[in-house]
Amino acid sequence: MFDYAGAIHFHSSYSYDARVPLPQILEKAAAAGLQFAIVTDHFRMDARVDGLEGYHDKLLLIVGEEISPRYNHYIALGLQKPVVVWKSEANAQGVIDEVNRQGGFGFISHPDHAGAPLIGSRSYPWIEWGVHGYAGIGLWDLSSDWNSSLSSIWQTFLALRHPAHVLKGPLEKTLARWDDLAQKGHCVAIGEIDNHAHRRSFFGMEREIFPFEFAF
Ligand SMILES: [Zn+2]
Ligand SMILES: [Zn+2]
Repeated sequence: MFDYAGAIHFHSSYSYDARVPLPQILEKAAAAGLQFAIVTDHFRMDARVDGLEGYHDKLLLIVGEEISPRYNHYIALGLQKPVVVWKSEANAQGVIDEVNRQGGFGFISHPDHAGAPLIGSRSYPWIEWGVHGYAGIGLWDLSSDWNSSLSSIWQTFLALRHPAHVLKGPLEKTLARWDDLAQKGHCVAIGEIDNHAHRRSFFGMEREIFPFEFAF
């Protein structure tokens, strides 16, 4: 058995809602001592098209995709080409089947995503639980965890000042889901960061959530 340190699920400037170019992200991943990084831009795998997939010195970049309609976000790996669906797509089983058909595999991403109503951040939960054929689920993700702490102006202030201190770890609800799924069959749990390095304005000051050096 081997241990490898890495990060799964983040967005580079190839995604419409993220802004840091991938080469800069890779520098930060290497500086943090990561051995692998799995980029999952929304509906795109341009990082592969641009020849970035593979080893960068000791850091392995793997190019996956986040298939992200309104609900049921799915982290897909081992694809031959991006799976593209409409934002309104509700056929989660069709998405899972298409990933498997390409010889890939995938994970139900941030299943209990709750968003942050206070800052206008929407929720993106998984809502189709009758599906099969996925490899596992995201048990925890950094961005959802942090967002869920923004319950008041005071909490938001605290979360901006001490981002690591407001994190709580996996939700009971998600742990219970995993327990249940793992008793019925094989279900791998992953941790995700879902980092976008968004810039947002809080109390009139622009802040970056999170810089990649923090997230990694
Ligand atoms: Zn997502
Ligand atoms: Zn994402």
